[in-house]
Amino acid sequence: PVTLKIILIGSSGVGKSSFMNRYVNHRFTNMYRATVGTDFLSKTVTIEGDTVTLQIWDTAGTERFQSLGMPLYRGAHCCMLVFDVTSRASFSALEGWRKEFLIQGEPEDPSDFPFIVLGNKTDLSDREVSGRQALQWCEEIGAEYFEGSAKEDLDVEKPFLRAAQSGLKQ
Ligand code: GDP
Ligand code: MG
Repeated sequence: PVTLKIILIGSSGVGKSSFMNRYVNHRFTNMYRATVGTDFLSKTVTIEGDTVTLQIWDTAGTERFQSLGMPLYRGAHCCMLVFDVTSRASFSALEGWRKEFLIQGEPEDPSDFPFIVLGNKTDLSDREVSGRQALQWCEEIGAEYFEGSAKEDLDVEKPFLRAAQSGLKQ
């Protein structure tokens, strides 16, 4: 069976842990619990007839200790750049996260590596980043854009299925 490594990166508090927890365990908690070290959750899915195990990594420590990112990023099949749609700063930070990933992760073909940009917390009304703005940046970097809400369980599956599909092509 194929195992695909999917990495979630982005600023602390954007909802990386919540999003993967919603996807894998169908749960959400309002309690803020900073992830300690690194953590992954597995989920087996069927993509175009293939059974694939997704190993989804939440990159805690890297938020504070950038250098911890290095070994973790290696061997990734897809990178999800996560921001909070109510935080312009978290969106602006993605360019830095992307560069960091490309440097530390050393993907074989950086120009063709699949990135997925994910805007979380669409359930909130105080939005600071529009879908249009996000899409524009995605076009520049050649990434795909998804948005949703871990809290309200909105559009949580799609980005992971897309990550799996693009990871399979790696
Ligand atoms: P991480 O640091 O990126 O892993 O972020 P967490 O998953 O720990 O979430 C940070 C905070 O945002 C927590 O208090 C979550 O409950 C909250 N949160 C996560 N996802 C959502 C969402 O979709 N909507 C709302 N309103 N809050 C969310
Ligand atoms: Mg976390």
